[in-house]
Amino acid sequence: MTGKVYLLGAGPGDPGLITQKAISCIQSCDVIIYDYLASPALLSIAAPQAEQIYVGKKGGDHTMKQDQINQLIVDKAREGHIVSRLKGGDPYIFGRGGEEAEFLKDHDIPFEVVPGITAGIAAPAYAGIPLTHRKMTSTLAFVTGHEDPTKSESSIHWPSLAKGIGTLVFYMGVKQLPGIVTQLLKHGKPENTPVALVRWGTTSSQQTITGQLHNIVDNVQAKNFRAPAIIVIGEVVNLRDQLNWFEQKPLFGKTIVVTRARQQASDLLRKLNALGAECIECPTIEIVPPNDIQPMESSIANVEIYDWLVFTSVNGVRFFFKTLFSMGKDVRILGHLRLCTIGPVTAEELMNYGLKTDILPDTYQAESVVEAFEKESMTGKKVLIPRAKQARSVLPESLSDMGAVVDEVTAYQTIAGSGHDRGVVDRVQSADIDMVTFTSSSTVTNFCDMFPGIAENASFKQKVAIASIGPITSETAQKKGLDVAVEAEVFTIPGLIGAILGYWNKNQQYQS
Ligand code: SAH
Repeated sequence: MTGKVYLLGAGPGDPGLITQKAISCIQSCDVIIYDYLASPALLSIAAPQAEQIYVGKKGGDHTMKQDQINQLIVDKAREGHIVSRLKGGDPYIFGRGGEEAEFLKDHDIPFEVVPGITAGIAAPAYAGIPLTHRKMTSTLAFVTGHEDPTKSESSIHWPSLAKGIGTLVFYMGVKQLPGIVTQLLKHGKPENTPVALVRWGTTSSQQTITGQLHNIVDNVQAKNFRAPAIIVIGEVVNLRDQLNWFEQKPLFGKTIVVTRARQQASDLLRKLNALGAECIECPTIEIVPPNDIQPMESSIANVEIYDWLVFTSVNGVRFFFKTLFSMGKDVRILGHLRLCTIGPVTAEELMNYGLKTDILPDTYQAESVVEAFEKESMTGKKVLIPRAKQARSVLPESLSDMGAVVDEVTAYQTIAGSGHDRGVVDRVQSADIDMVTFTSSSTVTNFCDMFPGIAENASFKQKVAIASIGPITSETAQKKGLDVAVEAEVFTIPGLIGAILGYWNKNQQYQS
């Protein structure tokens, strides 16, 4: 049976600028055929077994010719697969999506098109340029800059563009900029018409350069400004002075690697992204159930013998309740217990199950635990701690010192992360990033295992800042030979973000 092809717009670069419909296609397809400009982060949402085929084009370097791409899409569909053909921006705007659709039609392959946000709209918006404005222009044209503007048989009608249209948006025009400017001036566009070029729009590498028709070519040459960029020509460019919002975000232009487990990373990723950073996910750990679930089950079965239940992490809470529910029980069996969580985030997680913590030490440190339990008489009290397999022993020791009888059970374990997105390895090894964040000692250890020799890599050492969530993580990093540049004062994700902002001297009073 023939499969089906979805021609998907991936948006211009910011992975948030993709449609719900494209996301669900990527998640459920068997094969993804994608281009150079599509954001690599989008591939991480695909099913692990989906085949990913790169057919991108970069400048003149064509990995695959268009005919071969067309044939590949048809072949994969004929094998019965659901194919996502992922293209940068919108598939039907200067992306040869039209040709691919025709080829599919000719070969009787069913297809659908999912439009995307085209770079010509998105890049100017992120550079503070509305393409139309009631007081300035009511006409707009999208033009390819790909063809040589000086050739006599040009399909572009330059007199109409120069005289008849308010805002002009050129794709693929950086190389041909001098020719474009010459044609527009020749056909009567005033030489003081404002011009902007936006490179890598909507990503944290976005760069914008402005000028007027008479000097933009010199500006571009002086700055050695290169493709890919969108060129905007028209009075609306002046609005950028007022409306430039994206390039002013505090972490704009910074690329930050997040090494947390994928299940835990979303909060940190979302917050860093919102502050303007480009985030690269590189999960160094995975959180999985323990090899032997039996000890956890039997302590839940005997939970009536305990006086205290202590959680040291969000994962401890999640895996404890997962086991409890899988045994056909519910929270009523915990009614007699007093509850303790380490840290406010763990307390919040517990609240999701309708349970309020009685005692809340802020940190793992022995002193905080002792201080928090000071008013309790722990002598002879039975304490259950569901926790990670490789967990440290500060907490049980402190409680034992207070006279409690402590049972630790393994609720989950962390294992080294497998696989990361294409390109991540290269970017880390070539130090094409600004920072790596570590949120636990195991993220450090596994990162160093994943990138052998990274601590001795001279350009990594020089260019990449290491950010750590607290002193224990920092100590592990230092032992591995990594110099810690940023350490959170409050050992939480907001604390870490605050410290990162402080490091780059931005808004020190960050509040989550
Ligand atoms: N189908 C795509 C365009 C493909 S043509 C879309 O709808 O966006 C490739 C050209 O798009 C590049 O040469 C450049 O001019 C532009 N482009 C694509 N992504 C861009 C980005 N993030 N920033 C600036 N220009 C971009």
